[in-house]
Amino acid sequence: MSSPSYKRILLKLSGEVLMGNQQYGIDPEFVAELALEVKQAKDSGLEVCLVIGGGNIFRGMAGAAKGMDRAQADYMGMLATVMNALAMQNALEQIGVQTRVQSAVQMDAVCEPVIRRRAERHLEKGRVVIFAAGVGAPYFTTDSGAALRAAEMRCDALLKGTSVDGVYDADPKTDPNAKRYDAVDYDTVLANNLKVMDASAVALCRDNNIPIVVFSIREKGNLARVLVGEGVQTIVQK
Ligand code: UDP
Repeated sequence: MSSPSYKRILLKLSGEVLMGNQQYGIDPEFVAELALEVKQAKDSGLEVCLVIGGGNIFRGMAGAAKGMDRAQADYMGMLATVMNALAMQNALEQIGVQTRVQSAVQMDAVCEPVIRRRAERHLEKGRVVIFAAGVGAPYFTTDSGAALRAAEMRCDALLKGTSVDGVYDADPKTDPNAKRYDAVDYDTVLANNLKVMDASAVALCRDNNIPIVVFSIREKGNLARVLVGEGVQTIVQK
């Protein structure tokens, strides 16, 4: 595989990777390890935008399944993503990486609102911009938030760091014959409902021609390997 030449990336981390080996919440030691990987990526000369999920704390769907109003539960999920963003900001700044958190739900006392031009300026100055609260509306996920910010910020790729090492043609947990794709196109992902990101996020990436790189962030050093096209990964593109 030829080495990708990204200048600006959007890294989406599922909330669950912040749990480390815990069952819930935030493991500060693991967040510190993730922050180191982000620092390495930035130090290699990349401009880095981050989007972090909230599933380690709260998912709207889970609340709705227990009888909560879905929109209300989604607002709680969005707040969870802000907590994770602040945890990552803390970890990055402790190792000397300047960051700004921009939230799609305004929270003046703790972070900036999402302002694209201001985010551009932060990146120019070498800061990592962490986008929180997804798209700022219920019935969406942080995958859609990541696709939206990747398009808005004209990122060269959306890297989805998660617990699995790519996209499979079946669920590898239940099907021993499941095969991982090295590369797959957007329409195959959508037509076969492959587990990458939700459909609206995949469609937004397709329409804006943003490659999605799915890889496991759980192994140390994997982000750096993926950035030079060497890690185990699946790339979703045209
Ligand atoms: N959420 C939302 N709108 C958004 C982004 C997130 O309502 O634009 C809520 C939704 O309830 C979601 C939760 O925030 O379940 C946490 O985000 P997500 O499930 O995407 O986190 P991840 O699975 O990546 O950890």
